Amino acid sequence: MAIPILQKAVVGAYILRKHVSGQKRYPLAMMLEPLFRCNLACSGCGKIDYPDDILNERLSLQECLESVDECNAPVVSIAGGEPLLHREMPQIVQGIIARRKFVYLCTNALLMEKKLDQYKPSPFFVWSVHLDGDRQMHDRSVCQEGVYDRAVAAIKLAKDRGFRVNINCTLFNDAQPEKVAAFFDTAKDMGIDGITVSPGYAYERAPEQQHFLTRSMTRQLFRDILKLGKGGRNWAFSQSSLFLDFLAGNQTYHCTPWGNPTRTVFGWQRPCYLLGEGYARTFRELMEETDWDAYGTGNYEKCANCMVHSGYEATAVMDTVKRPLAALKVGLKGVRTEGAMAPDIPLDKQRPAQYVYSRQVEIKLTEIKGRKATATEIKAARTH
Ligand code: SF4
Repeated sequence: MAIPILQKAVVGAYILRKHVSGQKRYPLAMMLEPLFRCNLACSGCGKIDYPDDILNERLSLQECLESVDECNAPVVSIAGGEPLLHREMPQIVQGIIARRKFVYLCTNALLMEKKLDQYKPSPFFVWSVHLDGDRQMHDRSVCQEGVYDRAVAAIKLAKDRGFRVNINCTLFNDAQPEKVAAFFDTAKDMGIDGITVSPGYAYERAPEQQHFLTRSMTRQLFRDILKLGKGGRNWAFSQSSLFLDFLAGNQTYHCTPWGNPTRTVFGWQRPCYLLGEGYARTFRELMEETDWDAYGTGNYEKCANCMVHSGYEATAVMDTVKRPLAALKVGLKGVRTEGAMAPDIPLDKQRPAQYVYSRQVEIKLTEIKGRKATATEIKAARTH
């Protein structure tokens, strides 16, 4: 596992404190999305299909830091949209580091070389570069040629300047195990500090719906990939050994959506990073008033095929705390890639999907319109 000792110690102590205090639900990694605007339009992305007025919205530096304080998770992952398009991003990162929280700044790397001078290496800071495979796989995934080469050049520069750099790799149903394994070998040669890998979530607004994996396909794909790398031991994953074990079909886990609470320009997103079924005004409201049992695989149709780290890594980490020897065994021996799989969660009682996107967008647009009208009135009053 490619998680630095300092981070393991801080997160481990945090989990222990929560355990001892008997807290049932608590966040592990906050997802901060200060904007939805992006400079790419990837085929599997469900985050950028908003009207311009919403894409132009930003969480301010103050809103970001207040949200980080409210949530108080030990890790903050900044996603989007493309975070490097946000003018205050260096100050946001600096402010979070000053709170001694670990920051993962997710980027497609198109602006990384240009903006690298605005950031400083720190044990609390990691670049998390989106890279969905080799040149051919990645450029196809992001629907633009040349992006892989620019990302690799930016990674090299960042490594030369002493930054920690991870890659964030999402796999779809066209992933070929041999090619993925070869790509992980290449990442190792590039000096990448950690690989975060996950199957793509079937976003209802993603332009290409035919590329998402079902749960059984995901389990088999990960077995086939990990088999080519000694059960995963060949590569430095930035995820827990039990999460990889889950991806390979060896664990029956229920998701922990509150483990990665998500703050966007809409508010605190219910129930998780992947689904926007409603929004809470405060973190406390999100935690206390969300009907958590209404979500997760087996409970809700939109969760049927989800095996994404933002939902299940927290489950695996908490299981690691409960069963450290089981986790250690997987870490040392590698993930089992043969034999029977663990039973999967039955889907016969799940409630049907609800489609709330348009309503959420309508509410937000009305709010933006109201704000703009007030600003115009104030301006007019001042000039009279
Ligand atoms: S299974 Fe959990 S993490 Fe995945 S979409 Fe559903 S609520 Fe979110």
